[in-house]
Amino acid sequence: MRAISRKQFLSNISIYAVGAAVPFITKAKIPPARKLNIALVGLGRYANILADGLLVAQHCRLAGIVTGTPEKAKDWKKRFNLDDKNIYNYQNFDQIASNKDIDLVYVVTPNALHKEYVLRAAKAGKHVIVEKPIGISVEEARDMITACEKAGVQLAMGYRLHYEPYNMEMKRMGQERIFGKVKLVEASLGYKAISNPGEWRLHKALSGGGPLMNLGVYCVQAGRYITGEEPISVTAQYGPVTYPDIFKEVEESITWQLQFPSGAICTSSSSYNCGIDRLYAAADEGFFELSPAISYGPFQGRTSNGPLKFPETNQQAVQMDEIAKVILAGKRLPDHISGLEGLLDMKVLMAIYQAADSGKKIAITPEKQ
Ligand code: NAD
Repeated sequence: MRAISRKQFLSNISIYAVGAAVPFITKAKIPPARKLNIALVGLGRYANILADGLLVAQHCRLAGIVTGTPEKAKDWKKRFNLDDKNIYNYQNFDQIASNKDIDLVYVVTPNALHKEYVLRAAKAGKHVIVEKPIGISVEEARDMITACEKAGVQLAMGYRLHYEPYNMEMKRMGQERIFGKVKLVEASLGYKAISNPGEWRLHKALSGGGPLMNLGVYCVQAGRYITGEEPISVTAQYGPVTYPDIFKEVEESITWQLQFPSGAICTSSSSYNCGIDRLYAAADEGFFELSPAISYGPFQGRTSNGPLKFPETNQQAVQMDEIAKVILAGKRLPDHISGLEGLLDMKVLMAIYQAADSGKKIAITPEKQ
C-alpha cells in the first residue's frame, strides 16, 4: 500500500477543492483581498459549530445571521461582533439582495426548510451552502439546482467529510484500488439521543424522515465515494420500533444494501436507537476502516497493513475555507460537493425508503447529466 504524507494529503485536498479550476461567471462580484462573508440561516446547534469554525477560518468569516428569535440576534451580535445591517429575520431576509457585505448564505435550518432559503438566497444573488440532506425530495433538489443555475450563483452541499483527511483517504484507497477492487463496504451511523418529542427530526414534515435522512446520508455518500460508483439497486428493511411513543412519524432505525455496477455491495444501518459510527471496506487484497468515522472525530483508522494517522482538523473551518478559496478565485466549485451530489444522494435515500416500504428490490435509474 502506498502511504500518504500530511503534505501530500493537504495538496490532494487543494486538488479536490479547486478541481479543474473552471472559471465561474457570476453577477456577484467580491472585492479583491477580502475574506468571503458568510451569513448563517437558522441559529441552532449546528450553526453554533459552524460559527466556531468561522472564528478560526482564514478565508471566510461570519458576517451575518438570519434568525426568527430576537434574543438570539442580540446574543450573536454581541458574541460575533456583527453589524446591525447584517442581521435579518425570516421575513426581511430577501433584503439581503442589496447587502454587498454578504457573499454567501449558509442554510442550516431543518431539512424541509432548506429549499425555501436556498431559493430566496439565490434570488438575492448570493452563493449558497446547504446542509445535508439537500432537502426532503429529489424534486426539491432539482428546484434548488435550477434556481442557483438561473441566478448565476454556486450551490454547495455542506459535506464536511470531503475535507476531512481520514475520509478522503478511504475515498482514495477505494477509488485508486490501493488494496485491489472493493467488494464490500459497511457504512453505518447511529446515535441514541433523541427523546424530546418536540424535536423537528421526529416530525416527517420537517425532517423528511428519520435517521436515514439525518445520518444515513453520510453512509450513502461513503458507499459512493469509496467505490467511486453510482448504486444501481437497493434492498432495505426497517428495524423494530422500541419507542413507539417517540417514533410515530419517522423510522427508529433502518438497514439497507446498495448494489453497484461492479458487483460491489454497501451494507448500512442508521439508527436513533444505538450508537454506531463506522466505515469498513473489504477489497481483493486487504481492508481499510475507520471507527469513529463520520462524526466530528477524533477519528481512528487502520488498514490491513497497519494504522492510519492523520492530523485532526477543524472540519467546519477547513470545509468553509476551501469553498471560500474557490469562490474568491472566481472558480467553479468541485463536483463532489455540488448540488448535483446532494441530488444523487437524495435519489438513493428515496429508493431506500421505497425498498423498505415495499419489501422489494428497487432499481435506481442513472441521473442524466
Ligand atoms: P437545530 O434544531 O439545532 O437548529 C435548527 C434551527 O432552525 C433552529 O435555530 C431553529 O430555530 C431554526 N428554525 C427555523 N424555522 C424552524 C421551524 N419551523 N422549526 C424548527 N426550527 C426552525 O438543528 P441542527 O442540528 O442545527 O440541524 C440543522 C441542519 O443542519 C439540518 O439540516 C441538519 O441535517 C444539519 N446538520 C448538519 C450537521 C453536519 O455535521 N454537517 C450536523 C448537525 C446538523
